[in-house]
Amino acid sequence: MDLGLRGKVAVVTGGSSGIGLATARRLLGEGMAVAICGRDPVRLEQARASLSSHGDVLAQQCDILDKANVLALCHAVTVWRGACDLLVNNAGQGRVSTFADTTDEAWHEELTLKFFSQINTIRAFEAMLRASGQGAIVAVNSLLAYQPEPHMVCTSAARAGVQNLLKSLAGELAPVIRVNSVVVGLIESGQWDRRFAAREDKSNDRDTWFSDLARKKNIPLARLGLPEEVANAIAFLGSPVASYTTGSQIEISGGLSRHI
Ligand code: NDP
Repeated sequence: MDLGLRGKVAVVTGGSSGIGLATARRLLGEGMAVAICGRDPVRLEQARASLSSHGDVLAQQCDILDKANVLALCHAVTVWRGACDLLVNNAGQGRVSTFADTTDEAWHEELTLKFFSQINTIRAFEAMLRASGQGAIVAVNSLLAYQPEPHMVCTSAARAGVQNLLKSLAGELAPVIRVNSVVVGLIESGQWDRRFAAREDKSNDRDTWFSDLARKKNIPLARLGLPEEVANAIAFLGSPVASYTTGSQIEISGGLSRHI
């Protein structure tokens, strides 16, 4: 199916790893020019090099919590292509903590990360998204927004708030910009690779560790998801093919959710 993205411009935050990197690759495959950002310059350059054979890529170091950085990213995209048709707010990470072991400082950090990773970039790119005529925002969020886990209390609450914010934005930015999200379960990416590397029992190899994890979590499709499987949904929601879809979400969790 032609998604109608050819010749358009996407910005993917956190495009240097995992879901963001797979999304950048997917969108390049659709014929888009893609700007990616991340904080670590080495990882960013590796990503740029791996993507450059797929199409036109701009890679810019940027902490999305730093407003000046985000404005510089926006300026770079303006100089590079003078347009942004799709903003993928993907950058971030989860926080493992119960209510008892989350300090006030950690709450502030987590709420800032989850909210301002949306707010800073949407403020910066809104004008170009409006000018696009087919502007779209797709946020990468977690199933925790709907289904909190006891060991991720702070992240779960923040993610629920973000879904609420996105719903408001879908109304406020309509009819010019569509706003949707993907809510993901467990996806094989940098986050889970770091948890695998930090595992206490080193006897299991990566495949065994991941399949044990899927079993422990009772994932009906019996495995973790792949970043490419999330990228497919992001490409769809961000494309003119989804032109009558806003304020909605696609769940990509292998059937992990318990709500209807
Ligand atoms: P990865 O760790 O593989 O990728 C995260 C990306 O975000 C990296 O490119 C990282 O680069 C970037 N990033 C993180 N913080 C910032 C920041 N402040 N400014 C700019 N870039 C940043 O993880 P995933 O691909 O899994 O994560 C993608 C999104 O999906 C995240 O928001 C994550 O929370 C969410 N998610 C993932 C789940 C999963 O199971 N994988 C589950 C639920 C949600 P750098 O560190 O160099 O800045």
